Amino acid sequence: MFKRILQLLYPEVCFACSNTLLDSEGLLCTRCRLELPRPGLFLPRPNWLSLKFDGWLEYQDVHCFFLFSKGGRVQHLMHQIKYKGAQDLGRFLGIWCGAELNKYNWPDEYELILPIPMHQQRIQERGYNQAICIAEGIALSTHLPILSGGIERIKNSQTLIHQNRQERFHVLEDVYQVSDSSSFLGKHVLIVDDTLTTGATMLTLGQKIKAAGARQVSFLALAALQ
Ligand SMILES: [Zn+2]
Repeated sequence: MFKRILQLLYPEVCFACSNTLLDSEGLLCTRCRLELPRPGLFLPRPNWLSLKFDGWLEYQDVHCFFLFSKGGRVQHLMHQIKYKGAQDLGRFLGIWCGAELNKYNWPDEYELILPIPMHQQRIQERGYNQAICIAEGIALSTHLPILSGGIERIKNSQTLIHQNRQERFHVLEDVYQVSDSSSFLGKHVLIVDDTLTTGATMLTLGQKIKAAGARQVSFLALAALQ
């Protein structure tokens, strides 16, 4: 009863389209669940996403769960996860994404999930690292362990929006530091982030952990800009 009154006063809305949710719906409306653009996983290569990575690093797979367009519903969704404290939404989408991953026979098993580390200062400002929320959801579905500790973001670099890819790569080179590689030595690591634009952040981290002894790396972004 109390919940019903609360819902009348503050109707729950869909995180993607902001329409009021039905009682039977949670976090996302049925229409968004069906319509949000999902390109599929394990796409044949080369494809528009792999072209962002090919030639920079030897890796196995790169995936994105949603396609991101400026001003679209996926952008709104990602904004809620990154800036509006919607940690449960991040976990929910991670669970969904992990369940989709489980539908495929992985050509080379992923062994560990590495959420992109965030600088300590930014974690304090935001209160959480959204990549960890997404990774937690993926871990729930896939039963893969999450790699925590041993890799830190040591530079809270300036915004990269106006830099080209080469410049971004250069700026990011010494942003991450590996302090302990024992947990990922010889392992195939799936690097997880919320949003992928140029891929420079993921590539930088991939290079770092391969240089530190990871056997193989793959990449998964919840959303990517096509
Ligand atoms: Zn919706």
